[in-house]
Amino acid sequence: MKPCPFCARIAAGDVVAENDLAAAFPDGFPVSPGHTLIVPKRHEADFFALSVEEQEAIHVLTRIEKERLAGEYGPSAFNVGVNVGADAGQTVGHAHMHLIPRYPGDVEDPRGGIRWIIPDKAVYWQGD
Ligand code: AMP
Ligand code: ZN
Repeated sequence: MKPCPFCARIAAGDVVAENDLAAAFPDGFPVSPGHTLIVPKRHEADFFALSVEEQEAIHVLTRIEKERLAGEYGPSAFNVGVNVGADAGQTVGHAHMHLIPRYPGDVEDPRGGIRWIIPDKAVYWQGD
């Protein structure tokens, strides 16, 4: 089995922030400047299998990282989300929260945001 890249980062201390149960580091293939991942320290693929304490630790770090990214990158908006399971698009089997800073004009029409996971259904405002 391939070693987990996120466990490797945590073991190496290659993180930008951490607390008892969670850690944060830059996404290796960022979709926008500052794209950050917040993960549990324990290896578990399923976000919903994490304890409430682990989920809370992730949310606390997400808020801290949001403030850091706001200061460092000056984004105008954020997307926050978790892919849970292969059919939802999860490609790394260690649960993680994506924190994605967004910038004016980074896509032509940002409306819908996370709705674009199902492109055919994303647009509900047709005619507006
Ligand atoms: P997901 O598709 O939700 O499982 O997201 C996996 C994320 O992990 C993607 O955004 C990748 O760019 C990112 N990623 C993959 N390998 C690494 C790595 N070794 N270090 C940091 N981020 C990674
Ligand atoms: Zn892992």
